[in-house]
Amino acid sequence: MARIVMKFGGTSVADLDRIHNVARHVKREVDAGHQVAVVVSAMAGKTNELVNWVQSMPMVAGAEASFYDAREYDAIVASGEQVTSGLLAIALQSMGVDARSWQGWQIPVKTDNAHGAARILEIDGTEMIKRFEIGQVAVVAGFQGVGPDNRLATLGRGGSDTSAVAIAAAVQADRCDIYTDVDGVYTTDPRVEPKARRMKKIAFEEMLEMASLGAKVLQVRSVELAMVHKVRTFVRSSFDDPDAPEMSDPNNPPGTLICDEDEIVEQEVVTGIAYAKDEAQISLRRLSDRPGVSAAIFGPLADAHINVDMIVQNISEDGSRTDMTFTVPSGDAEKAQSVLERNKDVIGYDVVQSESGLAKISVIGIGMRSHAGVAATAFKALAEKSINIKAITTSEIKISILIDGAYAELAVRTLHSVYGLDKT
Ligand code: ADP
Ligand code: ASP
Ligand code: MG
Repeated sequence: MARIVMKFGGTSVADLDRIHNVARHVKREVDAGHQVAVVVSAMAGKTNELVNWVQSMPMVAGAEASFYDAREYDAIVASGEQVTSGLLAIALQSMGVDARSWQGWQIPVKTDNAHGAARILEIDGTEMIKRFEIGQVAVVAGFQGVGPDNRLATLGRGGSDTSAVAIAAAVQADRCDIYTDVDGVYTTDPRVEPKARRMKKIAFEEMLEMASLGAKVLQVRSVELAMVHKVRTFVRSSFDDPDAPEMSDPNNPPGTLICDEDEIVEQEVVTGIAYAKDEAQISLRRLSDRPGVSAAIFGPLADAHINVDMIVQNISEDGSRTDMTFTVPSGDAEKAQSVLERNKDVIGYDVVQSESGLAKISVIGIGMRSHAGVAATAFKALAEKSINIKAITTSEIKISILIDGAYAELAVRTLHSVYGLDKT
């Protein structure tokens, strides 16, 4: 007997038929004698609809553009998961499985006060564990918890993955299975490159890079938690036949295991390619080259909660003036520009320019630590396709390249092939 957390994403619970199919997956594990907690997302598209409703409300009097009360945003946006958790509990009951739904505040899943992007601080698993002992399945609304202000808090988009891993850690589960619309983690997004291959295993660190560089198959925070708490996390498909014999293989279910690097015998140099569209590049021209100038730029941007990514500063030709370029999500470009214009006198520059519609393509692999020439291969392959590189950043296990958004798919496929990741 094992204790298992099963998480089902939006497409897996998109309608009533699929919720019944999810219930069959859950029943399989219950019938095998396992203790089960299920974490669900809202139906596909529901969270976007709720967010759009919030954003089309009139502004709070006196507020800056796009400001709304984040506590009310959470109250609205968390509702999608309330519906699916109740529906799944009923579907399970109709199959003779003892189940009840849990909202974040009922468990409770305690979070910090960062409404809209809250972090889980603590989960009390006592009551859930007590009910596992009598065979009850807990169906938990993902993506939500309760803040120190006693109000609903959501965990940021894609946050149900994090709910699942955090619950798995809290109830000391043997496994956390993330069921989604793909049957594992692929060498790149299979929607962009049909030749992408499913990986049997991927190291936590690589998965962290893949997720933070755009592969939204898992929320970044869920991978961090899995790594810290050593939660055995499998990514697998909810569209597989729930009753196929291989689905109940306890040690090797079909899917991808996220694990320690030591568990991976044959480590490739490059394991995957990730991409993020909708990046914008902002350049400050003829910036004064003096101590404190970076702080003067990035301090106010951080205060405005703008997430700055690639930063490139040129070497000054005459020792007094230089150029600084960095990227932000396209949605934040206008806000970033107005923050910089407001601080123009303190920073000291000639003009600020911005270009939207860019894409960041990243090559990831732990094997890069010990191999030279990985970056050069990427540059040559992109040059052969006449794709212009606008900025580059590297770390020990990744290279990120900024290009025009129109070439994103071509660049992903080119790099996927040049590093030998294509399915043969
Ligand atoms: P869910 O609703 O189940 O949480 P998501 O849409 O958040 O599902 O994540 C699954 C999607 O992630 C897949 O449909 C796929 O298009 C995308 N994806 C991006 N990169 C990868 C990758 N490297 N491997 C697998 N899926 C990926
Ligand atoms: N429903 C939420 C979202 O769409 C959380 C999740 O699906 O993980 O972001
Ligand atoms: Mg998701």
